[in-house]
Amino acid sequence: MSGREAYKILGFKDISALEEKWRAAQRYNAFDAEKFNKAMLSSLHEIEVDLTPPDDLYVCPFCDKTSFRYQKREGEVFLACSSCGSNITLNDEVWKNPRRRIEILSLTSGYPGVYILRHLSVLYGKHDSQSAILDAESMEIEKAFHALSSPDENVRYRAARSLRIRHPPQAFGPVVAAFGSEPLAKIRVLLVQVLPSIGGTDAIPHLVTAMEDADPAVRKAVLHALSSFEGTDAREAVRRAAGEDPDVGVRTLAIHLLEKNSIKK
Ligand SMILES: [Zn+2]
Repeated sequence: MSGREAYKILGFKDISALEEKWRAAQRYNAFDAEKFNKAMLSSLHEIEVDLTPPDDLYVCPFCDKTSFRYQKREGEVFLACSSCGSNITLNDEVWKNPRRRIEILSLTSGYPGVYILRHLSVLYGKHDSQSAILDAESMEIEKAFHALSSPDENVRYRAARSLRIRHPPQAFGPVVAAFGSEPLAKIRVLLVQVLPSIGGTDAIPHLVTAMEDADPAVRKAVLHALSSFEGTDAREAVRRAAGEDPDVGVRTLAIHLLEKNSIKK
């Protein structure tokens, strides 16, 4: 199990989400804190990842700095903080089990949930390349949203194509908006192809409207998109195109799709 999976179990998509929660949790009232602490402590047992810090430096439960180091003196193991001077002695059972160690430290802090989040963010935050990749990806997607309204048609084309490959759900609104203002048919075709995968059934009413597009190539793309849905609205739009579309190619495709779907049934 990776660090990323560890904080996913706690319900965080990445390390920055975890750190945000850690900061928010410090402002909790007593009631919320109690609930939060219980949830975090019980999730700790579901994490199968090694919780030992590689450099043996723990977060200090008293001052919150990463300066709690274990020491051995006359057969006794204890952790001491080089920042605030606090220390706690650990018995053997706790010392041998990294999970129990974190549990004891988190309980010592008086705020176990916050301690656990802090420990995980220190443990994985600095060494985690995954969150950097995620950030890069969401920046790429953000860039694609902006690019959809670029005056340069090549930029818009590439943006639409990149969204079709990645189909991020957050692109639904921007893609619907871009479709409404896109002058080039070949780009509207790409946008139509993106819609079902990012919008699910929410895409259906937009696709039904898009059947009024002036360009037959766009309407054909819409027919393919609509035939991927089971609903009556989608089927009705395909049936209407089969009988009424002004373009013979579109009508033929609609008839073909209706027959294919009825065979599937
Ligand atoms: Zn300290």
